[in-house]
Amino acid sequence: MNATRRRQLFERLRSANPEPRTELEYSTPFELLVAVILSAQATDKGVNLATRRLFPVANTPQAIHDLGVDGLAGYVRTIGLYPGKTRNIIATCRLLLEQHAGEVPHDRESLEALPGVGRKTANVILNCAFGEPTMPVDTHIFRVANRTGLAPGRTVREVEEGLLARVPQEFRQHAHHWLLLHGRYVCTARRPACPGCLIADLCEYPDKTRAEAATPAKATQRAAPRATPQGAPRRRRA
Ligand code: SF4
Repeated sequence: MNATRRRQLFERLRSANPEPRTELEYSTPFELLVAVILSAQATDKGVNLATRRLFPVANTPQAIHDLGVDGLAGYVRTIGLYPGKTRNIIATCRLLLEQHAGEVPHDRESLEALPGVGRKTANVILNCAFGEPTMPVDTHIFRVANRTGLAPGRTVREVEEGLLARVPQEFRQHAHHWLLLHGRYVCTARRPACPGCLIADLCEYPDKTRAEAATPAKATQRAAPRATPQGAPRRRRA
């Protein structure tokens, strides 16, 4: 996809959703860190249901550490892979308390040293909590980047580097949210809603869904619910 089309693609996604946000609910960088660790191979909706019970009771490293593995598990056992995630969160809380004065560190190396935190999670924290124009690549973004021709790659890292090199600077901060939401709600894995897709004429995917076979798009780009701007407190959804 050439530079002109890349710009058009992001201009359209931005027009449809000027302030995209993560669908995970949080009000501090630490809450976001816990939510992202819990969200691996789980839905944001499922994580939100659990953290709505957890955070009013414990939303600091000390408070969650004090719950212990069994206490924390009581709040998150509805989430897939919760035993390992619970152990990682408690170990992360201990490291935050011992090495970072209870604060979420603002650098990639320290973040990736936390149990349960890999490159993608670190990218999410750096982008959403600290406003850095990082490019977390999940399964949706990987699919959209490859199908559209925006940043083809065989590995997540290749796609991440392709996006960082090709997304125009002015769209860098929100690019991953736009692509993630587009992949989650429009360019879905099994039957992309190409006939209703707002970037269909720019997309280079050769196997676009035809109109008669497509499931109508729920929306060309669903606006994400409001979430935390740069870690600032926000209201949770009812
Ligand atoms: S046209 Fe189809 S394949 Fe291309 S981005 Fe839109 S939904 Fe995805």
